[in-house]
Amino acid sequence: MTDIASRWESDVLPSLSGLIEIPAVSPAYDPQWWEKGHLLAAAEHVRQWIATHDGLTAEVIERPGRTPLLFAEAAGPAEGGTVVIYGHLDKQPPLGDWSEGLGPWQPVVRDGRLYGRGSVDDGYAAYAAVTALTAGRAHARTVLLLETCEESGSVGLEDYLADLADRIGEVSLVICLDSMGLDYERLWMTTSLRGAVQATVTVRILDTPLHSGVASGIVPSSFRIMRQLLDRVEDSATGAVTVPEMNVPIPAIRREEAALLAALQPGVGASFPLTGTARRVSDDDVELLLNSTWRPTLSVIGAAGMPAPEVAGAVLRSATTLRLSFRTPPGVSAEAAAGALTKILTTDVPYGATVEVSDLMLIDGWDAPAPAPWLTAALDEIGSQVFGKPNATVGVGGGIPFIGMLAERFPAAQFVVTGAVGPDSNMHALDEFLNLPYAYRLTEAIALLLAVHAQS
Ligand SMILES: [Zn+2]
Repeated sequence: MTDIASRWESDVLPSLSGLIEIPAVSPAYDPQWWEKGHLLAAAEHVRQWIATHDGLTAEVIERPGRTPLLFAEAAGPAEGGTVVIYGHLDKQPPLGDWSEGLGPWQPVVRDGRLYGRGSVDDGYAAYAAVTALTAGRAHARTVLLLETCEESGSVGLEDYLADLADRIGEVSLVICLDSMGLDYERLWMTTSLRGAVQATVTVRILDTPLHSGVASGIVPSSFRIMRQLLDRVEDSATGAVTVPEMNVPIPAIRREEAALLAALQPGVGASFPLTGTARRVSDDDVELLLNSTWRPTLSVIGAAGMPAPEVAGAVLRSATTLRLSFRTPPGVSAEAAAGALTKILTTDVPYGATVEVSDLMLIDGWDAPAPAPWLTAALDEIGSQVFGKPNATVGVGGGIPFIGMLAERFPAAQFVVTGAVGPDSNMHALDEFLNLPYAYRLTEAIALLLAVHAQS
């Protein structure tokens, strides 16, 4: 057993298991988070563990009305710039009944997996970072930023970063341990993230509902008007989102990466639970990858103004409300996209109906800048040394709001966005687990990366 694996088993697993036992659900899913104190307890639990390691100090910081942040520091030379390692301690809610013998707040090690909510997303990150920092290799001064609001959109993180700017210092490398790979065979680097525009759209045609036998054919249906409005922003035959402000040219390098990834892992989405004879939007893996990472998409994620079918009366409803969720490619300004969307939906509305667009939620995407030559060389070398296989890159279809914040705050820094989540980790779902052998190797890779950075 390597030194890192044995340290995981003797030092990390007992404390990480304790962290899993804390129901530190992210504030968006637990309005009573402050009274309950679980987020603070999680931060304090990890602070105490970090403080048992020589060369590290840790402090829990609380801004009024915000969830706490755990700030830790590993002493080291700072001339080449500080390293920032990011992770988060808040968790998704349990979701439902976990499998026999498992539970969200019940750490279970079985077949090389540590089960429990927040094991892989993202409790392991702090532990992997500290184990890498204390592995006996060189490292520069390193700051750990462990927030407790990631699953709720990192509300308040920007203010923490501003407050801590002096203590963080000049940053030359940011390592984010909250992303994912598509297998456990290699080191995965995230090269892009999509953004999002969510909006609630209401089409109102009547002040009160009417008998549909009396009014239909005279008063237009609010649902039909909604269909026409949606046709302005999405081609219903292909799913292409046609708002110009939501589309970008796809960079050649990202197309090449998608082709490489499709060759490495054919059958994109083939494991999704498509029902009956249902099929994917295309059989072309490269197009599917680009669709889900570099093209905008629309999902209707909620509706109001409609009764459930079993209690629906024969009325012409007065209004239809839909919650629209657009995923937007990197490079799209969510604010500009939302402005364009609002204009399209509220201009020249059929039959003069009233359209209201409200409750916008905006996230910008992220496209990784080209890594510095030293970093590319280091990652190539580390990937083959630790995993015996070349690294792979992946574009991620979801958004991680803090990456944009960190990129803006540390414009000169190099970014390594990776993580222990694999294709079957059940992140956000039932039976979440951390693949332990992968976590050990990822820890080793971080230790090596820190050493190369310290010497670069
Ligand atoms: Zn996460």
